[in-house]
Amino acid sequence: MAESSRYMTAKIGELREPIQKMQPEEQFSCGVVVVAAGRGERAGQSAEGPKQYRTIGDRPVIAHTLDVFATWANTGPVVVVIHPDDEQLLAAALKRMSRPVAVSVVHGGATRQLSVLAGLEALAKTGVRYAMIQDAVRPFVDHALLDRCRAALDGGADAVLPATAVADTLKRATGGRVEETVPRTGLYAAQTPQCFRLEAILAAHRAASASGRSDFTDDASIAEWAGIPVVLVEGSPDNVKLTLQRDISMADERLTRHAIPDVRTGNGYDVHQLVEGDGVTLCGVFIPHDRKLSGHSDADVALHALTDALLATCGAGDIGDHFPPSDPQWKGAASRIFLEHAARIVREHGGTITNADISLIAEAPKVGPHRQQMRENLAAMLDIALDRCSVKATTNEKLGFVGRREGIAAIATATVVYTPGTEA
Ligand code: MG
Repeated sequence: MAESSRYMTAKIGELREPIQKMQPEEQFSCGVVVVAAGRGERAGQSAEGPKQYRTIGDRPVIAHTLDVFATWANTGPVVVVIHPDDEQLLAAALKRMSRPVAVSVVHGGATRQLSVLAGLEALAKTGVRYAMIQDAVRPFVDHALLDRCRAALDGGADAVLPATAVADTLKRATGGRVEETVPRTGLYAAQTPQCFRLEAILAAHRAASASGRSDFTDDASIAEWAGIPVVLVEGSPDNVKLTLQRDISMADERLTRHAIPDVRTGNGYDVHQLVEGDGVTLCGVFIPHDRKLSGHSDADVALHALTDALLATCGAGDIGDHFPPSDPQWKGAASRIFLEHAARIVREHGGTITNADISLIAEAPKVGPHRQQMRENLAAMLDIALDRCSVKATTNEKLGFVGRREGIAAIATATVVYTPGTEA
C-alpha cells in the first residue's frame, strides 16, 4: 500500500492535495472514487494505452466518465485511482473535459480491490459522508442513475447497488454442453457506481484486505461479505462497461453518430484600387485590360478575400497579420502564396476545406470567359475538387467607386469542417 499513499496531479494537471477540510454542507455530498488502474487486457493493445484512455467520440473514455460527475450537482471530492505508468495519460484526459474539475490522484494496488481501498483511504481524509465507486470504463452513466443512488443513501442505506434485471435466458454449461437452464427470476447484472456510507465500506474493505482476501471483483461483494445489507436501485441499460475492443468501437460509433459536425464558415472582403496599367490578376488569372490593380503584392483581390475567409474559420487572424504590407519580401508576390499558407494553417488545425466561394464586383474587365480557369486555379491551390470551388461576378450597376471603375471588390466565403481533438 506504500505507493498508493502518494497524491499527485489534480486540477487540469496542476498539483493539488486532496481537500482536507470541507464545509459542513459538503460533508453530505457524494465523494467519488473512479477506478482507472486496470490494464484492460481483454480490449487488446492500443497506441492510446489502456481502454480507459482510448478515444470514443472526441475524447478519452475516462474524460466522458468524469464529466458525468463533474456536471452532477451532488458531486463532492473526486479521487481517481490510476496505474503509476498512466500519469501523463490522465493529465491529457483531464484537459479534454468539458469543465475543469479538481481530482486527487492515487496509485492503485495489485488488484481492483486494493486499488479501490487506496481510493477510499484518500477519500476518507476529506470527511465526506458518502462514497460512490465508479468504473472508469462506464462512460454512459447518467445523472438520473446518480440521483437514484443518492436518494437510496439519503434513505438510510449503507450500500446501494444499481443493477438491471437479466433479460437473456441463462444456461449453465461445461465443455460446450448445456447442463441446465438457470431460472433468471431474481437475477440482476451489477453496475457502477456502487454507493456506500464511506465509513461502512472502508471498514469492510480494510477487514477484507486484513483477512488476506484481495480477489473481490466489485465492492457490493465486499459489503455482502462484511454483512452490510445491499439495496438495489434500477440501473440503466445504457450504463455498459467497455470491456472488449468491440465495446469501445460501438461506444465510439454511438457518440460520433450523435455528434454535431464542427462546420465553420468564414467570410472575407477586399478592395483594390484600379490605376493606369495593362491588366489585372484575379484568382491567379492575368486578364489584359487598360488598367491594373494597385497593391503591394500582385493585388489579387479575390485571393486576398478568400485568404481572410479561410483564416477566419480557425481564429487565425487576417492576411495582414501573416503577410504585413510593410514587409518588402511580399512586393509583387503572387497571392497564391497567401492562399496556400492559409489552407495549410486550416489543415494544421484539423480542418477540411469543403467549399470556397468568391464573388467579384467589377464593371470591367469581363470575368465570365475566365471563370473556369479561375475555379481550376482555386481547386489546385486549395487541393480540393473543382465542384467545391465557385467564382461569380457582378457589376455594381455603375454605382459607387466600383461603378466609376475606381476599384474592384471581392467577397469570399470559406466552409471548413474541423475534426475535434486535432487542433494544432
Ligand atoms: Mg488586398
